[in-house]
Amino acid sequence: MSTIDKNGMLISPKVTLWRYPHIEHGSLRVVHGIIIHQTDSPNVRSTFNAYGKGGNGAHFLIAKDGVIYQTASLSKRCYHVGRRIKSKCLEINKNQCKDKKLAKLKAYSWSKRLVAIDKHERQKNYPDRFPINSDSIGIELVGMHINDKTYEPVTACQNMSLQWLIGELYTHFGLDKSDIYRHPAVSYKNPGEAASAKWK
Ligand SMILES: [Zn+2]
Repeated sequence: MSTIDKNGMLISPKVTLWRYPHIEHGSLRVVHGIIIHQTDSPNVRSTFNAYGKGGNGAHFLIAKDGVIYQTASLSKRCYHVGRRIKSKCLEINKNQCKDKKLAKLKAYSWSKRLVAIDKHERQKNYPDRFPINSDSIGIELVGMHINDKTYEPVTACQNMSLQWLIGELYTHFGLDKSDIYRHPAVSYKNPGEAASAKWK
């Protein structure tokens, strides 16, 4: 069993603390969900190099051998979701979606629609919308994209570590399976990202 210390770090022999303050952007006051990513980088080192410069990042990074690094505090916000979120109502069950405003947005051109949907969704509370940077934890798995639709498979060691980590985060933040999302489910990304990631 892990604990979270006053700096928002997950204390456990299974977690290597390697915090990059440059990827932290203000306070994370509440955690409603977890978003699973793949890095599109070949190894931990290349991701660390990018994190040293700041900008986008996530709270955890899992190497191909399953080593878990915590790269940002759980009380700080990371930019990992992307600029535009999709509509949960439309994505999860289009036929059941009773949101009349969304129906009107269908007439917009694709790029205008993306912006309008994002703006509309952000006015909703979780779980009516997908998680956003201000209420979610990001977990990155080292792995390269292969083409427009595919990423390299998540390794067995990565999936074992991911499962353990998500189990701990369920306990600490009162989450369950319905609060875990692959990045392309939430935002407009390569559909193969984290496709082979597994958790309970
Ligand atoms: Zn991602």
